Amino acid sequence: MIKKTKKMKVYKFGGTSVGTPQRMGEVARIINDNQSKIVVLSAMSGTTNALVDISSLCYRRENAEARQKTDALFSHYTKVIDTLFTSEKEKDNALGVVSGFFSEIKNCITDDFSPQDEKKILSYGELISTHLFHFYLRENGIKSTLLPALDFMRTDRMGEPDMYYIAKNLNTLLSEHIDETLFITQGYICLNNYGEVDNLCRGGSDYTATIIGASIGASEVQIWTDIDGLHNNDPRVVDGTSPVARLSYSEAEELAYFGAKILHPLCIIPAHNAGVPVWLKNTMNPASDWTLICSDGGSGGVKAIAARDGNIAIKIQSARMIMAYGFLRRIFEIFERYRTPIDMITTSEVAVSLTIDDVTNLSHIVDELREFGTVSVDKDMTIVSVVGHEIASDERSMDIFAALKGHQVRMISYGGSSNNISILIPSESKKAVLGSLSSHLFK
Ligand code: ASP
Ligand code: MG
Repeated sequence: MIKKTKKMKVYKFGGTSVGTPQRMGEVARIINDNQSKIVVLSAMSGTTNALVDISSLCYRRENAEARQKTDALFSHYTKVIDTLFTSEKEKDNALGVVSGFFSEIKNCITDDFSPQDEKKILSYGELISTHLFHFYLRENGIKSTLLPALDFMRTDRMGEPDMYYIAKNLNTLLSEHIDETLFITQGYICLNNYGEVDNLCRGGSDYTATIIGASIGASEVQIWTDIDGLHNNDPRVVDGTSPVARLSYSEAEELAYFGAKILHPLCIIPAHNAGVPVWLKNTMNPASDWTLICSDGGSGGVKAIAARDGNIAIKIQSARMIMAYGFLRRIFEIFERYRTPIDMITTSEVAVSLTIDDVTNLSHIVDELREFGTVSVDKDMTIVSVVGHEIASDERSMDIFAALKGHQVRMISYGGSSNNISILIPSESKKAVLGSLSSHLFK
């Protein structure tokens, strides 16, 4: 049994929340509230994308361009440092640390650039933002302790967070600083099972925050972004969406997995397992509480709609399925062998339709499926998920079908969970379908 350290909160700030010196100042004000906490930071906005670009140049052996892009990013940071700090002493110190990180990035730019070098390069965004923020707090008289994420955050053989290792190491680290109340750490980055630098995939800082929250038995996790919580439909696609006040863990898990961009797809799971409530908050509007995600999702009925692009629908049609057993198992085994997760599935007596979003082994999968019957593949599909508590028993859910009138629907799935009705549509009709669902369901 792992001994939990004293009750703390976890606050996570995304890239835009720490995207400029001025925004960092606002984050400093938000966290300076005398409550014991771990602050998880993303890289400053734009940085991870720039590091991804640098890595792509390295893969193409365009090393001169990669170095140029690295210099441009460094020069951006010299300006950030100049504005963020007042004293020459802190400026010099920050410049020293950040130029050290940039030399390490440059050391990775070689002719035998590997995925391992890429992972290393990607880790510097969070290393830079957390060091700058820690120095900024120090210059402003706020005492904080930097916890290196690579000292406790680790994934296992399956690439999943090694919760036992993380809790053990993090709680040990915290117990070495028993009198401290403010800790800063990097989101996103971790070590893998081999002890190499790795990450929790794009947007992974949310996941870091909830993994930490679960590991220390936090009283709550606050995820701070630049929008008023989770909206009832995708605000980038549909006008007039509004924030949802409350969601259950299961509802939030489905929304995050099926496209609600505000959250990393897996980040609710650790909070759910440990029963740690998650608040979504807005740095632009710090006084308001927006979405609360906890065991009690409040009211029933439809809560929100999310959409996820980039899905492929595969249909296997075969008269051999009639009255046969073991058929689905053999189909699923093919996907298992190629380590390709299936998201949606519907069956009839003579056909199975399912969706995947990982196309790495699509051609091999299709070749093997052909042994069972006729296989057809539809690309550019969007999964639209309508999420709520016991939504099929809610009368208003039937409005979903009215909303879909006149639109092409490839699959509908209900019953796998009582929280979700998923609809597969061609991506080109996403805007129209989401708009129609909003006007029918949230009038
Ligand atoms: N910096 C990483 C990204 O841009 C992780 C995060 O922001 O959550 O994906
Ligand atoms: Mg994010």
